[in-house]
Amino acid sequence: MDISKYKIGPQSDLKLSKIKTSDTGQFGEKDEAEKHLEENIQRMAGLQSKLYAQNKYAFLFIIQAMDTAGKDGTIKHVMSGLNPQSTQVHSFKQPSPEELDHDYLWRAMKCMPERGCIGIFNRSYYEDVLVVRVHDLLKKQQIPDELITDNIWKDRYRQINNFERYLYENGIITVKFFLHISKEEQKDRLIGRIDDKAKNWKFASADIQERQYWDEYQRYYQEAISETSTREAPWYVIPADKKWFARFLVSEIIAQSMDALKLGYPLVDEAQKKILMEFKQKLLNNEV
Ligand code: AMP
Ligand code: MG
Repeated sequence: MDISKYKIGPQSDLKLSKIKTSDTGQFGEKDEAEKHLEENIQRMAGLQSKLYAQNKYAFLFIIQAMDTAGKDGTIKHVMSGLNPQSTQVHSFKQPSPEELDHDYLWRAMKCMPERGCIGIFNRSYYEDVLVVRVHDLLKKQQIPDELITDNIWKDRYRQINNFERYLYENGIITVKFFLHISKEEQKDRLIGRIDDKAKNWKFASADIQERQYWDEYQRYYQEAISETSTREAPWYVIPADKKWFARFLVSEIIAQSMDALKLGYPLVDEAQKKILMEFKQKLLNNEV
């Protein structure tokens, strides 16, 4: 399938309000998309195994979204076939005092995926141009007053672009997803968390607070995505009102991104092959 429709071009004039959150692509029904998701999970597992064997590249998949958009569920379902040994998931919450005592990329740098591995960020340093902007948290981040200028967000986009380019040039490939839901869908999901006892634990009163800042979040997401979608680290906007479509699409983008690397198992040369055959002969002859 052509995923380019969902990819945001560098410096694009993105209008989130023009992207249909209920889009389901080529799928009329859930079953069909779920079948393809299952196939993609197999594909991803095969590609991950080669990535691990090569031990050179790493992938970093960043998932950002408004509350209830399905970050946790996407990670749970899309990544369910990956090998836990080479998968590293990190969730970024409100920074701790220790984290606040550092620059904002510090905590992300500490959990970058190792070579051969897949890293998944549930939220990320993008919160530092989103929630921090909405709630004016720069002072809390201990940024010196004289460095808090009108340009600070543009400066941060540049820092993030440089950072992701640095990662790319070192073999760590970043792909970013924004799960895009409508305000109406969020309302239904929040009510669902109240009505369904099994989901009560997921209901956070903070989500209701944040909902009041919906328009600001959309504006800042839109700007951040436009400014930080690059050739090296693209953003994809995922229509997410239908969870089954969002999960399929994320899996398809991950599989295609990994496929593009043309990964293969490391091959042994003739001399090494000869040594392997000698070992085999010794084993067969019970010599070892
Ligand atoms: P959740 O993903 O629902 O567990 O919530 C995590 C919370 O941490 C969200 O409300 C985020 O906005 C918040 N958070 C994540 N990163 C930051 C940050 N750098 N500064 C302030 N709040 C953050
Ligand atoms: Mg939450």
